[in-house]
Amino acid sequence: MHAHFDTEAVHAGEPHGDNAPLTVPIVQSTTFRFPSAAAVQEYLQGGSPLFMYSRDENPTVRAAERAVAGLEGGEDCILFGSGMGAMTCAIMANVSAGDEVIAPAALYGGTYKLLRDVLARFGVRTRYAAPEKLAQSCAGAKLCVFESPTNPTLRVLDIAAIAAACRKAGTVSLIDSTFGTPYTQRPLESGVDVVMHSATKYLNGHSDHLVGALVGSRERIESIRVLSRKLGAALDPQAAYDLLRGLKTFALRMERHSQSALDLARFLEQQKGVVRVWYPGLASHPDHALATRQMQRGFGGMVTFSVGTRERAFRFWDRLKLCARAASLGGPETLTSLPILFSHTGYSAEELARAGVDEGMVRMSVGLEDVRDLRADLAQALES
Ligand SMILES: *Cc1c(COP(=O)(O)O)cnc(C)c1O
Repeated sequence: MHAHFDTEAVHAGEPHGDNAPLTVPIVQSTTFRFPSAAAVQEYLQGGSPLFMYSRDENPTVRAAERAVAGLEGGEDCILFGSGMGAMTCAIMANVSAGDEVIAPAALYGGTYKLLRDVLARFGVRTRYAAPEKLAQSCAGAKLCVFESPTNPTLRVLDIAAIAAACRKAGTVSLIDSTFGTPYTQRPLESGVDVVMHSATKYLNGHSDHLVGALVGSRERIESIRVLSRKLGAALDPQAAYDLLRGLKTFALRMERHSQSALDLARFLEQQKGVVRVWYPGLASHPDHALATRQMQRGFGGMVTFSVGTRERAFRFWDRLKLCARAASLGGPETLTSLPILFSHTGYSAEELARAGVDEGMVRMSVGLEDVRDLRADLAQALES
């Protein structure tokens, strides 16, 4: 007899029922056993509680999907191995060759380049509209992709108006709500069809995993899931566990991010070396009235400001001590980036102008540090 690893015996003592573990176990397995051919047939018919293969479904990932769906007030969710995996799947599930996508020009760079460089090759055309004109412009488009607040100028779009116009025009609405998060807005309640997240950012919240999410009605998510199983950008169970852990402090983190961001936005507005500050919570922001109406509990943790020129931005940025010089957002550490070197690198001057990006811009993801330390760091970096 060959020596073999007796998994039955390994599983025999697992606590369950009234004695179940408090946290969701990490089911680190690519595949699942079937007791019989009949069980496989039952699985294939759908709607069974059985699992077959972790690209299709995994218990830890399913638990995290339910948690994210609940946060957004949606019926179901699919998690992906990155935000771009989620965005790619959401777009591809809704368009075919010859279809048109409508979007505002201020889109996350990855999404903009996906539409410009990849989907265009498959005969999907993208039409761009000014953010205020998006609702009037969606007729004729199969899919409307938008963000609110946008990157990096934090423009706030009227989510309910866009969703209503899309519904009337027969256009599917897809919002990238990464910057807003379900703490400040719940787009499904405003009539949006699909909410997308780079859960890499605020939802996971610890800058340690790439995760993407799509949330919507059961029917819409089920139809997207058919494609997601083929595209294969599945989430790993370990990352799903860490996402679940991150979600336990989500509301607390967002409260602090939002408070500190408002504090720093006000502080920056008073500094001599700062030419302009973009934060939806400031009265000076072009969309402040809409943001006040639309965003609950705060305006999020992102602040953008301009120190005027590229040279000043480089000098300011190099002098920062506490704030990290790094891409991304939504973690405990304050991160700063220069849009012309990061999110908007490779854009032509015309594309930069259309996205509202100026060369002296600094984008800041306000972290969980003591806000007095952050103020001091910004002040010392501005003095030069
Ligand atoms: C980061 C980000 C993405 C892409 O997500 P990944 O997890 O990095 O693939 C999409 N949209 C926005 C607004 C983002 O910030």
